[in-house]
Amino acid sequence: MPAAHTPIRYRIAPLDAHAHLYEVRVTLDDPDPAGQRFRLPTWIPGSYLIREFARHFVSVRAECAGSPVGIEKIDKNTWAAAPCDGPLTVVSHIYAYDLSVRAAYLDETRGYFNGAVVFMYPDGRESAPCTLEIVPGRHPSWRVATTLPRATAAPHGFGLYGAASYDELIDHPVETSDFALANFEASGVPHEIAVTGRHDADLGRVARDLARVCRWQIDLFGEAPFHRYLFQVTAVGDGYGGLEHRSSTSLLCRRDELPHAANGDIDDDYLTFLGLASHEYFHAWNVKRIKPAAFVPYDLTREAYTRQLWAFEGWTSYYDDLALVRCGLIEPARYLELLGRAITYVARGAGRRLQSVADSSFDAWIKFYRPDENSPNAVVSYYQKGSLVGLALDLSLRREGRATLDDLMRALWQRYGRSGAGVPEDAIGRLASEIAGRDLSDFFARYVDGTEDPPLPELLSAFGVTLHMRAASGAKDRGGKPAGGPMPRCTLGVRLGADAKLAVVTPDGPAARAGLSAHDTLVAVAGLKATPERIATLLSRHSPGETIGVHAFRRDELMTFRVTLDAAPEDTCYLTLDASPAGAVEQRRNAWLKG
Ligand code: ZN
Repeated sequence: MPAAHTPIRYRIAPLDAHAHLYEVRVTLDDPDPAGQRFRLPTWIPGSYLIREFARHFVSVRAECAGSPVGIEKIDKNTWAAAPCDGPLTVVSHIYAYDLSVRAAYLDETRGYFNGAVVFMYPDGRESAPCTLEIVPGRHPSWRVATTLPRATAAPHGFGLYGAASYDELIDHPVETSDFALANFEASGVPHEIAVTGRHDADLGRVARDLARVCRWQIDLFGEAPFHRYLFQVTAVGDGYGGLEHRSSTSLLCRRDELPHAANGDIDDDYLTFLGLASHEYFHAWNVKRIKPAAFVPYDLTREAYTRQLWAFEGWTSYYDDLALVRCGLIEPARYLELLGRAITYVARGAGRRLQSVADSSFDAWIKFYRPDENSPNAVVSYYQKGSLVGLALDLSLRREGRATLDDLMRALWQRYGRSGAGVPEDAIGRLASEIAGRDLSDFFARYVDGTEDPPLPELLSAFGVTLHMRAASGAKDRGGKPAGGPMPRCTLGVRLGADAKLAVVTPDGPAARAGLSAHDTLVAVAGLKATPERIATLLSRHSPGETIGVHAFRRDELMTFRVTLDAAPEDTCYLTLDASPAGAVEQRRNAWLKG
């Protein structure tokens, strides 16, 4: 149909009279003569929650050949214009003041947008090519950072860009600001890092370190799926987030996570940044191209259900840190610390006994992405447990000596990723069995579709790594290291939030048995004011089985409870490298951690 190939013309400009409004014009030369409909996505790929972006549209009007024409809203994200011979232009004003990587933002310091948030598409024209004019605001020094293909715009310039389809248009977020720029090559592919926000980072170092990570990932798959790549980084005082795109990623980080020239080590902060960048980069293969069949094509008007996010998010989480040790940026012991934290995170969630990672994937829209006080008790993270499933499968395959998870990723890339054919819901298990040379359906039935914990102690020991479990030393103890300082002997079975408010109450734990609830605010424990320090002291001095009095507010009502303490659970993991493993074990360990 020739009509499908008529380009749709987009134009986005800051409205100078208002600090946070974009004006977007969408022009269609040959609208449906019976009346053209325009739709806006309700969600953005990579973030599985209906977000109702249309709520940020503050006004919408239409012009037919330059004259006003009627346009009315017919559902929450659809507009219908009156019949028009064309050209038909829809003019929207959109409030943009959300710092998240899934949104749009505009103020005196920067402009940023994801196309899915600001660009409606003419119904039925999703495959038509698009042009986008990006108009500068009142900041002459700003430049443009995006991997959207340039039409007539100069490199980093405002002006005209283009996309082969709407799907492509919205998969290249656009940053406009006085960003700092660094670049590097990895396997011959040019990469850029554009950092917005106040910072004093050593970007040369970030470029050198990321180059190693990127090169390792390209080598893993055997090829880069893009011919250039952009890390869009926004540095703020406090914030964290990342969203993957086909040839770029938007990252939100704390400015202290970026390395300072004076500090040569990879500290925990910088490690967090490197892990995030590595994660989103891995997605360029795993989920942007190797993707669930349910996402081919994306239907952005409603939920797209898949039971496979444990592989797309979980295995990406397994590889994000693994890439850092395999490319030599960090030592194996440091990597095991990160792994110990992931095991700890999963071990502390009672929800893993109730929900499988396959079910967690399917219900991401209403559970994982909408956490509440009961989530740790009822929901398992397909990221964290999914990463442990990836680890367990990798170690199982490696122990048998026939294949590795790397082989499976490459097979997924060859079979599904290169062509963009979606991965059917049962394909990963089948392909894994094919690669292993034996039936692995029991593995997937137990750890993916079932709620069993993967047998990590036994698997790790075959690689000269010992898994230790111990009690948590306090609320800030994330695991990964042996205990330091005095240890509690007992637990209340709660996670404390700020101001002695109960964030989570563990099912069947001491507090739950006594009748305490999430959101209760502790006032006194054993007759003394409830502070985090007092509670820690109490738990280190009392014995399991002892009963103490607890006073707490539920809303504004003071209540008293008798809480019988349990022994502190061993829910905190750290891993150690065995000092002198047998030759074969050491060889396996090196192949896993050093590549
Ligand atoms: Zn991810």
